Amino acid sequence: MTGPILRTMDLRKSFGELEVLKGIDLTVEPGERIAIIGGSGSGKSTLLRCLNFMELPTAGRVELDGALIGQVQTARDGTERITYAERALTQVRRRVGMVFQQFNLFPHMTVLQNTMEGLITVDRMPRQQARERAMAELARVGLAEKLGAYPSQLSGGQQQRVAIARALAMQPEVLLFDEPTSSLDPELVGEVLRTIHTLAEEGRTMLLVTHELGFAYRFATRVLYLYDGLVHEEGTAEQIFRAPQREKTRAFIERSS
Ligand code: ADP
Ligand code: MG
Repeated sequence: MTGPILRTMDLRKSFGELEVLKGIDLTVEPGERIAIIGGSGSGKSTLLRCLNFMELPTAGRVELDGALIGQVQTARDGTERITYAERALTQVRRRVGMVFQQFNLFPHMTVLQNTMEGLITVDRMPRQQARERAMAELARVGLAEKLGAYPSQLSGGQQQRVAIARALAMQPEVLLFDEPTSSLDPELVGEVLRTIHTLAEEGRTMLLVTHELGFAYRFATRVLYLYDGLVHEEGTAEQIFRAPQREKTRAFIERSS
């Protein structure tokens, strides 16, 4: 029996006085593709960032493959605090890959170097092996011809596909996409969505924050509508897009379509 790959329980995140995530309970089964939708500022990016610990949650639990990330310390009054060891977090970030809206490539490195970098510095993989892995992933996203190019020589769509290859090279168990097409010119959106669609067909476990509701409808096995730091409504794409039950969800879908 295999359990969920990723699980959060009452996940919370505050920045100073501002509580951005107010208790997220999320269970992700292997092979699920979850689209996360919601208005600007609802906490979508913060949620993804907490799932791979680029941001440390302020409270709650995150489990990866059944294992609690972080150590629980219980104070005398019964309150729990979770502390994180940097080494464990490096492991998690490796197992949970992320693709950003702004591709975040290193400008001074070629396409191939960008894709190899994590394998060499995080995984300590021998150079030759890292090169072969990176070349295979770049071929997968259709960039075998661009190994020696620098990011500035590529279109936005190509840069984003490099970022996807770079994430894939680490062979993550879960892939997170934070609005991967939002900074692209309209004519470049399609090639990136097609790449993501190919990954979906391979059965990968993915969470995708997107404003492309048409794509989310085709892509997602489940849709979460985030509102004010909480999952306001969730269901299948059919349920959320065609028959939302709650007023705020309905208004959002109407506004965004
Ligand atoms: P979304 O991705 O849904 O637009 P975000 O998760 O980026 O929303 O942001 C949710 C809220 O958290 C916003 O009010 C934002 O200003 C705030 N926020 C996000 N990151 C930080 C940060 N590093 N410091 C302070 N406030 C932040
Ligand atoms: Mg965001």
